[in-house]
Amino acid sequence: MSAYEYVDHTYDVVVVGAGGAGLRATLGMAEQGLKTACVTKVFPTRSHTVAAQGGIAASLSNMGPDNWQWHLYDTVKGSDWLGDTDAMEYLAREAPKAVYELDHYGVPFSRTEEGKIYQRPFGGHTTEFGEGPPVQRTCAAADRTGHAILHTLYGQSLKNNAEFFIEYFALDLIMAEDGSCQGLLAWKLDDGTIHRFNAKTVVLATGGYGRAYFSATSAHTCTGDGGGMVARQGLPLQDMEFVQFHPTGIYGSGCLITEGARGEGGYLTNSEGERFMERYAPTYKDLASRDVVSRCMTMEIREGRGIGKDGDHIHLHLNHLPPEALAERLPGISESARIFAGVDLTKEPIPVLPTVHYNMGGIPTNYWGEVLDPTSRNHDKIFPGLMAVGEAGCASVHGANRLGSNSLIDLVVFGRAAAIKAGEIVDPKESNRPLNMASVEKAMDRFDAMRNANGSVPTAELRLEMQKTMQADAAVFRTDKTLAEGVDKMKAVAAKMDDIKVTDRSLIWNSDLMETLELDNLMPNALATIVGAEARKESRGAHAHEDYPDRDDKNWRKHTLARVSGNEVKLTYRNVHVDPLTPEKEGGIELKKIAPKARVY
Ligand SMILES: Cc1cc2nc3c(=O)[nH]c(=O)nc-3n(C[C@H](O)[C@H](O)[C@H](O)COP(=O)(O)OP(=O)(O)OC[C@H]3O[C@@H](n4cnc5c(N)ncnc54)[C@H](O)[C@@H]3O)c2cc1C
Repeated sequence: MSAYEYVDHTYDVVVVGAGGAGLRATLGMAEQGLKTACVTKVFPTRSHTVAAQGGIAASLSNMGPDNWQWHLYDTVKGSDWLGDTDAMEYLAREAPKAVYELDHYGVPFSRTEEGKIYQRPFGGHTTEFGEGPPVQRTCAAADRTGHAILHTLYGQSLKNNAEFFIEYFALDLIMAEDGSCQGLLAWKLDDGTIHRFNAKTVVLATGGYGRAYFSATSAHTCTGDGGGMVARQGLPLQDMEFVQFHPTGIYGSGCLITEGARGEGGYLTNSEGERFMERYAPTYKDLASRDVVSRCMTMEIREGRGIGKDGDHIHLHLNHLPPEALAERLPGISESARIFAGVDLTKEPIPVLPTVHYNMGGIPTNYWGEVLDPTSRNHDKIFPGLMAVGEAGCASVHGANRLGSNSLIDLVVFGRAAAIKAGEIVDPKESNRPLNMASVEKAMDRFDAMRNANGSVPTAELRLEMQKTMQADAAVFRTDKTLAEGVDKMKAVAAKMDDIKVTDRSLIWNSDLMETLELDNLMPNALATIVGAEARKESRGAHAHEDYPDRDDKNWRKHTLARVSGNEVKLTYRNVHVDPLTPEKEGGIELKKIAPKARVY
């Protein structure tokens, strides 16, 4: 331990992550006068939230009739009846308040003629409990909603004296002797010092783990670090088998090509030049729903009709459309295709692949963001000193499938809720407990072992093996056979962490070491995903299982909890909260409205 230089800090709250969720939590804590630190491995406004374009859902009724009960119903149905109803009610009810707060903080929302916040339609958002026409519920700041939210929240957090630790890599949680969380250990990337943060509450807002797969629309920094930290403490990850795919990520980079490309007349072909979607979906063809198109593309690749030397992708054609139309309607896409695929889309097709877009699973929490360590099917024990919000957490409001624009609202509603709760449970006058040095030492031993790892497998090689395994066996096409093979392969891949090789031993801007630590965090996320998927013998939301094509509410309307240790995964289950927060007779939603039924659109 002594070989490292330590710097100590004491705070009421330490938030890890400065995306939409981390910044909203940080701001809420700081506004209440809690001494708050926000630790982030990238500059706050470079967090993945910055890439969110479409918008943020809230039933403001600015463009027509809407209410929170309809938003709740759509979210319940979108989740394929796996979300926790109390958390979903909290989300739908608090959403308008959270958006107006953003407005007042200064988010430059687009406006209607009368000066109200502009709202656009999004998939799955409807009126009259799914019986009426689509609703315009998604509030937007042009096509830069995430960008606008991040910049505003960062400015407001600074104004309220939150302290930022930028380009610090959080290594591990520090646990008190009684087993509760009491702080965080972080490595300052530009000078190699190690920082011990003592905190009464730690909030994990580290984002998703899209990078466990070969192709992801999310940033390279989305490596599930919070999930890794939690798994190392023996805490469970929840519903990890539910991973949302977008059909058209650019092959290799994963950069998103919007659904609008097919909306404008784009179509997909296989290696035989066949427009295969006509075979699978004769009516909607290339415009069938996202999960359907993704599955058909994967079937073509699996059956040997993929494109390229590895036969592992599909072509998206826009080259038959008039160049003027492309320049006018899809300028951003033209640029993405040029930069990320080296393709002039007026002349050539774009190589694409179903691409991971969102992780429904994460660290289980209640609707206050408090982390759960359930002791049985129906006992959600709260784990003291630890919260999780945003894509890293699982409240669970998205269940088996997330609706578009419901993530940005999840970030701000639950970031805000965590701050409200911390205001109740954290006493600024109380002094911090001394740090448990045994816990610090254990975390430093891991860090030191990684830094000096001298095995035979380079990090980049093992990461690629993990990503290709997950892409082949835990993606869109799932059968008993592919999942069982995938579990065996992933266990073998994870076991190779013991033989990892790091070549750079320095402590300053050591990207080799940082990527190795990220890989060590991705592994438990990946294992929990594939093992949870193998066990779930039904189809629900994003988990479409060829051998069990129907949803099975009797046996499987339950949350998966996965505890990962090394390459072993232990699964248990937790009951879904089926009751809303507000009873029907007190003005809550009519229970019969949200009873499970087939999810058809
Ligand atoms: C291309 C794209 C478009 C999208 N569009 C929409 C949309 O229009 N509407 C919508 O609702 N959703 C959208 N989503 C989903 C949504 O944007 C994300 O789910 C959301 O932004 C995640 O926010 P977050 O705050 O949880 O994490 P992120 O924004 O990913 O931030 C994670 C933070 O954690 C920090 N961090 C992570 N690990 C560590 C560590 N070890 N140490 C220190 N710091 C760490 C990072 O520095 C970063 O600040 C989109 C997603 C993508 C990828």
